[in-house]
Amino acid sequence: MERGIETKCIYGDGATPEGEQTGSISFPIYQTATFAHPAVGQSTGFDYSRLQNPTRQQLEQVVASLEGGTDALAFSSGMAALTALMELFRPGDHIITDADLYGGSIRLFRSISEKNGIAFSQIDCTREAVEPHIRENTRAILIETPTNPMMNVIDIRKMAEAAKRYGLLLIVDNTFLSPYFQKPLTLGADIVIQSGTKFLGGHNDTLAGFLVTGSAELSERLRFILKTVGSGLAPFDSWLMLRGIKTLPIRMERAQENAQAIVSFLLGEERVRKVYYPGIPGTLAYEVCRRQASGFGSMITFEVESRELAVHILRSTKLIPFAESLGGVETLLTYPTTQTHADVPEDVQRRNGITDRVLRLSVGIETKEDLIQDLKQAMDSFVASP
Ligand SMILES: *Cc1c(COP(=O)(O)O)cnc(C)c1O
Repeated sequence: MERGIETKCIYGDGATPEGEQTGSISFPIYQTATFAHPAVGQSTGFDYSRLQNPTRQQLEQVVASLEGGTDALAFSSGMAALTALMELFRPGDHIITDADLYGGSIRLFRSISEKNGIAFSQIDCTREAVEPHIRENTRAILIETPTNPMMNVIDIRKMAEAAKRYGLLLIVDNTFLSPYFQKPLTLGADIVIQSGTKFLGGHNDTLAGFLVTGSAELSERLRFILKTVGSGLAPFDSWLMLRGIKTLPIRMERAQENAQAIVSFLLGEERVRKVYYPGIPGTLAYEVCRRQASGFGSMITFEVESRELAVHILRSTKLIPFAESLGGVETLLTYPTTQTHADVPEDVQRRNGITDRVLRLSVGIETKEDLIQDLKQAMDSFVASP
């Protein structure tokens, strides 16, 4: 019988810490840069921590197991993972991406990958077919779902079919739902990206990123890139990730429960114009998300009636900090237009629906009544200027 995800979060697929002689329940932090060799031509399996480190390896095995992959590579941040990923491509290659992506991904593609000769087409994958955009030099399709910040849900199976038919890689950034709610590799994706900084780590205290795959060929190419560019995750940060992941299931469940309560509250507020959350029945996002994920997560984007109100809320919450990032135990309120998506050109922001009235909420695991009360007092204390 395959292990349940809660067990995998604690042990991965392996036994209690492999190769560990002392009985330590917590996997040790191997704080070493290098490893001694028994003799010429022999190795313990570890040579140098840029290539591999036991703590990082334990973490990678757990994450590969959670995503249903055969290998996971741990990087120093989500952006380090994405930067390494782009090394799979050469000048002249073309990649199709969804238009609504994390701002840092758009900045990487526009300011670095394009300079290196890779071309991109941004399309709305929830409304447009990808086929007309596929060129002879197209190599991959890259999406997030749900998207950051507009919470669009893209049909992963449909994208995987198109990718297979044209021999393209399907790359899915699975940060928003985490492998607890969604496993793109099992739906046909070739590579999954995770910003481990978010739900996997879960405590707003560590940066990390992952690339996960079920293909031995891709794994070998990515491992070559990782050891060459040297952006692997450090031993202590790997340990913090291992510790965070142990409670992923209960954090995801509680945060989702809180998010659903906040969505109900927001839907009843007159000054809230629109709530973007895939768990609202009757929407296309809901139908697609229900088919491909086991939950709707705890990210909410909402639009209020004016810029003044949005700015007032950001200044007036007493419990909820105004800060970027997401996926931690602390609820955070973000202003995408000046924070996470500030480097996204204004026309793209507008096209994606990111206005100065849009706020993003990453719901944590505090008492839900406290969160609702905080949002309510922030909204109720607003007095519109005449
Ligand atoms: C935060 C984030 C990233 C970047 O990850 P870092 O760990 O901050 O470098 C990539 N994709 C998504 C969807 C994110 O939310």
